Amino acid sequence: MDDAKLWFFYGAMGSSKTANALMVRFNYQERGMKAILLKPKKEFRDGKTIVKSRIGIQADCAYVEDFLLELNSGIIPSCDAVIIDEAQFLSREQVDQISDLVDVHNIPVLCYGLRTDFQGNAFPGSARLLELADEIVESSTVCWCGRKARFNARVCNGVIVREGEQVQLGGNESYTSLCRKHFKEGKLHK
Ligand SMILES: [Zn+2]
Repeated sequence: MDDAKLWFFYGAMGSSKTANALMVRFNYQERGMKAILLKPKKEFRDGKTIVKSRIGIQADCAYVEDFLLELNSGIIPSCDAVIIDEAQFLSREQVDQISDLVDVHNIPVLCYGLRTDFQGNAFPGSARLLELADEIVESSTVCWCGRKARFNARVCNGVIVREGEQVQLGGNESYTSLCRKHFKEGKLHK
């Protein structure tokens, strides 16, 4: 049996990360294996333990925090893999603990998340994943100009927003993915 690995699949918004996470989980199930699907509780206080892709597919999940509580109390998960969506919201410490699943228990962990926030800064969880992961894979999407989009612009009333909290809850802003040039310029369309 191969050594398990810690994977980080990162990309801008709209790069199909969640859809890919759900497909990988389905592939495990199809082969009679069990993959545990998790997301961080931190930024999802709605109590909905669902991972949902914008193309419509979804699946039930559990919270990373609850999973780690069990792990830290000595309960070893019986599964073939752990899949984590929205991994940018993990803390550095949580990423460290998750890497123990790989190193101590030989369970593959597949993390999916954004690399950078609306100001172009790395999320702490993503920075730690980039430091620790065995395999780093970029899922790409395109800017309106056709270049690779690697940045997530926060948009409010049709204008790019540069100031604010890293995670804004309950606002009426939206996000769009842009190439670096157009992110810098704040140019949202032709
Ligand atoms: Zn562009």
